Amino acid sequence: MAAGGTVLAMRAVVIGGGIAGVSAAHALSEVVVDGASVDVTLVEAEKALAHHTTGRSAAQLILNYGADPVRALTRASLGFLHRPPESLVDHPLLDARDVLTVATADRNDSVERFLAEGLATNPEIREIPIADARELFPPLRPDWATRAILERDSYDIDVGGLHQAFVRGLRANGGTVRLTAPVVGMERRSGRWTVTLADGEELTGDVVVNAAGAWGDVVAALAGIAPVGLQPMRRTAFMTPSRYDDSSGWPLVADVDHNWYVKPDGSQFLCSPADEQPSEPCDARPEEIDVALAIDRINTATTLDIRHVASSWAGLRTFTTDRSMVIGPEPAEPSFVWCVGQGGTGIQTAPAAGRLVADLVAGGEPGAMFADIDLDLPGLLPDRFR
Ligand SMILES: Cc1cc2nc3c(=O)[nH]c(=O)nc-3n(C[C@H](O)[C@H](O)[C@H](O)COP(=O)(O)OP(=O)(O)OC[C@H]3O[C@@H](n4cnc5c(N)ncnc54)[C@H](O)[C@@H]3O)c2cc1C
Repeated sequence: MAAGGTVLAMRAVVIGGGIAGVSAAHALSEVVVDGASVDVTLVEAEKALAHHTTGRSAAQLILNYGADPVRALTRASLGFLHRPPESLVDHPLLDARDVLTVATADRNDSVERFLAEGLATNPEIREIPIADARELFPPLRPDWATRAILERDSYDIDVGGLHQAFVRGLRANGGTVRLTAPVVGMERRSGRWTVTLADGEELTGDVVVNAAGAWGDVVAALAGIAPVGLQPMRRTAFMTPSRYDDSSGWPLVADVDHNWYVKPDGSQFLCSPADEQPSEPCDARPEEIDVALAIDRINTATTLDIRHVASSWAGLRTFTTDRSMVIGPEPAEPSFVWCVGQGGTGIQTAPAAGRLVADLVAGGEPGAMFADIDLDLPGLLPDRFR
């Protein structure tokens, strides 16, 4: 409270303009702390938002995916994704797309493990006869897969629409987005953060949110905060044209041991070797060998007969050692708030991850979005690495 009774708004600086940063920034711009709304500035190093991992995903929501605490975030995000606020987006963000997981005869153990894990998360999972799987995805080679699991309640996500919705909401609430604004230093002065940008400009924040993706530990070091042990892992993807008129509605097909996957995308297929190559934080580029590996594996399992790569890319999926996210205040310095380790699920969990950041900043506890969700908060807080 300032002299004269004016309530001063809390200031938050959110670092990173990928899906984690924009969801946290938007959620923070909606909460009230000590009787005032939060004044949010989002800073992004690049000249465009979503330039790194967020702009390079496969855009799929799969309930049966990721570490357990992360699965709870996916469940908590469903309400927002199914029924986004009309003020933020005027079209649906989800479009149903089944997931078909397939296996060769020698991998019954993997199938049983997958089914047990999957059924604990999504009752819409069941094994189907391989003939039915081939009706759903005709290029599946009859002499390759012997078992198939169908997961319903999976969706294409409109990633651009979701990201834009958060940015629109942030701006509507008076928040600011700064592009080409790499943070190069952070210091506590008189109980607040001074955040220094590359051009020397200084921003002030009561709270700093670290949503820097692959650079999460680098950004923490700038603030004198110990790392949580983030490991960026490169994943490769490419597009190839479809020879089929009706493939756009087919399921995403994945190998049970996650060696490759194929996802119909309009008149093309998005393909990946599902690789996880450890990397430094960087602007990731695809390696020819990884594209070739994917082509070989997919051509072995299907009759897609991939010969042409229309475009290829790579992105960094960033993991902690337990492959759960790190969301919440740093124990030794609670004004430094983590929102990192999004791994392979940062899009499908974004509404809940951002909301959890805001709840923990505003009230210290998960709020209404998590009321019916069995949220494993200790499995998300940074405290587990301290
Ligand atoms: C091939 C592939 C397929 C995927 N498929 C899916 C999927 O189907 N479903 C799903 O949910 N997820 C998927 N993912 C994962 C998902 O894309 C990520 O979890 C998510 O995008 C991570 O978002 P982020 O905001 O944490 O990181 P990013 O999008 O990388 O954003 C971090 C931002 O921080 C900025 N930054 C870093 N340092 C600074 C600094 N010092 N100052 C200012 N800004 C800084 C960076 O420039 C960057 O823009 C996939 C990923 C890949 C690569």
